[in-house]
Amino acid sequence: MPKPSLNHSKRASELRDLLNKANHAYYTLDSPFIKDAVYDHLYRELLEIEAQDPSLITLDSPSQRLGGKPAKGFKSVKHRIPLQSLENAFNFHELQAWYSKIQKPIDQNIKMVCELKIDGNALALSYSNGILTKATTRGDGTQGEEITANVKTIPSIPLSLQLRNPPTWLEVRGEAYMPNKVFEKINNERKQNEQQLFANPRNACSGTLRQLDPRVVASRRLDYFAYTLHLPIDWEPSESDPQLPTGQIEALDWLKAAGFKVNPNIKFAETLKEVQDFCITWESGRHSLPYATDGVVIKIENFGLQETLGITQKAPKWAIALKYPAEEAPTQLTKLTFQIGRTGAITPVAEFKPITLAGTVVSRATLHNSKRLAELGIHQGDTIIIRKAGEIIPEVVRIIPELRQSKADKLSLPTSCPECSSKLIKEVDEAITKCTNTACPAILRGSLRHWVSKNAMDIDGLGSKLIDQLVAKKLVCSIAQIYELDKKQISKLDRMGEKSAEKICNAIEESKKQPWHKQLYGLGILHIGSANAKTLANTFSSALELSITVTENPKKISTIFGIGDEIVESLKKWFATQSNQNLIQQLQMLGLSLANTENRLSDPVKGLYSKKKKLQNQKLVITGTMSSFSRKELEEMIEHAGGTISSSISSKTTFLVMGEKPGSKYDKAKQLGVKIITEKDLIKILSEENDA
Ligand code: NAD
Repeated sequence: MPKPSLNHSKRASELRDLLNKANHAYYTLDSPFIKDAVYDHLYRELLEIEAQDPSLITLDSPSQRLGGKPAKGFKSVKHRIPLQSLENAFNFHELQAWYSKIQKPIDQNIKMVCELKIDGNALALSYSNGILTKATTRGDGTQGEEITANVKTIPSIPLSLQLRNPPTWLEVRGEAYMPNKVFEKINNERKQNEQQLFANPRNACSGTLRQLDPRVVASRRLDYFAYTLHLPIDWEPSESDPQLPTGQIEALDWLKAAGFKVNPNIKFAETLKEVQDFCITWESGRHSLPYATDGVVIKIENFGLQETLGITQKAPKWAIALKYPAEEAPTQLTKLTFQIGRTGAITPVAEFKPITLAGTVVSRATLHNSKRLAELGIHQGDTIIIRKAGEIIPEVVRIIPELRQSKADKLSLPTSCPECSSKLIKEVDEAITKCTNTACPAILRGSLRHWVSKNAMDIDGLGSKLIDQLVAKKLVCSIAQIYELDKKQISKLDRMGEKSAEKICNAIEESKKQPWHKQLYGLGILHIGSANAKTLANTFSSALELSITVTENPKKISTIFGIGDEIVESLKKWFATQSNQNLIQQLQMLGLSLANTENRLSDPVKGLYSKKKKLQNQKLVITGTMSSFSRKELEEMIEHAGGTISSSISSKTTFLVMGEKPGSKYDKAKQLGVKIITEKDLIKILSEENDA
């Protein structure tokens, strides 16, 4: 026989140790330290190694035994018929493989029964002449603990059978479980008493069944679903008794007739498609059940066929449990990479051997920030546990240090930016480490992606791949330069043609009409999400007004509902940066309003419109090109504030409002000593007055 590889033998030994510890914690202490799905994956890995290298199977391997040892404190009893476990399938392919294997020798369609897999504890109930005489746990499958006094407290378990002519002996198998509501209540009480919490209803049920005081068991309101039975084949039922069952459906009916509670959610299935439909229905449907289930058990219906197929050392060949897709599973880290986002923050990303979670294959997960990286203490090649629930982005929940390779390097953040090599800066709160180089291509790519995104400018067709090319080819070095792209440049990019380039150009042009709040959101100012952008845009009708208020009267911003000091600080910092002011100007020059264009002239209470007639009896003259407002808009605002507009400068003129490239009016105003103000100054006067 070839010698097993050193890697295999080491991994097998590590897995054995960990799984044996997990078994003890789970079966004996009722306090698991890893999730079932994680256990299942690691157990699978051990089985695979043992299948490849059978010489690695040791006597103490968890694969060599079933369940836990009988607990101390209860009498250990031998089962009349061994209580087995079930084979697992983790997806429909494995289910199909199981079906094909058993169907091949039979060469006909096989009828099946689907039942919910109740996540509780197997209990065998013995009845002598119709009276409950013994109740045992599964234990190691051969020997279990006798817990009759405890089981008698479960109200749904009949103490005597409802049969006219009960058999001399009967063994009923089923699952004891703790209803979810009871589990929550008990854990709440334990929390208040500062006791250790139960990990899940199954462990709470198991801990309860092993209580030495039956009164405690009675108070915990356990329940029981019966799912199979063994009885003497020579039993002769009375006329009113159910007949000896020949298949699983009849067995369930028999149990009901004898007084047992049977789970109503079952399905007789003639094809695998029907089985699949049942499984899909209950994968989501299970959440509305008042008890926990962890899969679907598929059984061959006919008892004769079950007997022909037989059993293995651990489980019957005629049944399989399809476990619901795991939301948590272990895998191995292949490398740690680092991403720079649009704010410059560096995010560690774990790349790992692909695994299927919640129905999708995942191979990378974010570690969020440096703090999280330090908390996890991740090393090269670590076994990591990944979680992905529903639509949620996969994350690294924790690592299993017991499975770490010796001499593995501890991983940490780099000191310089992986994109532009500038030194990374750690923020005060220690959680965020940033690249502060505004020219960093990663920051630029992030800002562009944000600008074109749905909630911002919604530029259809300008996706991540195109942005990567535009930045790499230095065709775009700022958000504003998107608006300077032409069809020819875009059509030369990978996978672009004339038509698609034209479409993108049109989408870029069209985006100029996006409302002010979307433009504000698109600027990607820290802490300004869509909702905050809307709030701000409702109060401040332009980037100019917002900028002035931020600098001159920041208190006004923090009084707005929902806008806190953190946001005000972030706005201050953003508007104080010259490159951001330049960006606003460039965007305006390229035709973006950065202001409310709708209804702003007709809604005097909003924005810049004066409530008090602050410009009463003042004469104003306007000259040059304005950047934020049209001349007509300015005139309307001035008139609304009580001022009058004149076309020529005289000694009676109060202010000359001056824009870019002023005319001769500027010289005349200077000669006559008329006060010259900018568009910004005028807005300031109006907004200050609004504040009063
Ligand atoms: P199992 O729970 O996966 O499946 C077998 C059991 O399903 C049966 O014994 C029976 O009690 C139960 N069952 C529920 N509904 C049923 C139905 N309708 N018909 C037939 N049987 C039904 O297997 P197991 O051997 O009891 O336990 C092994 C599992 O326990 C592992 O797969 C793992 O998920 C978990 N475990 C977890 C840890 C941990 O540390 N988290 C440790 C050990 C075991």
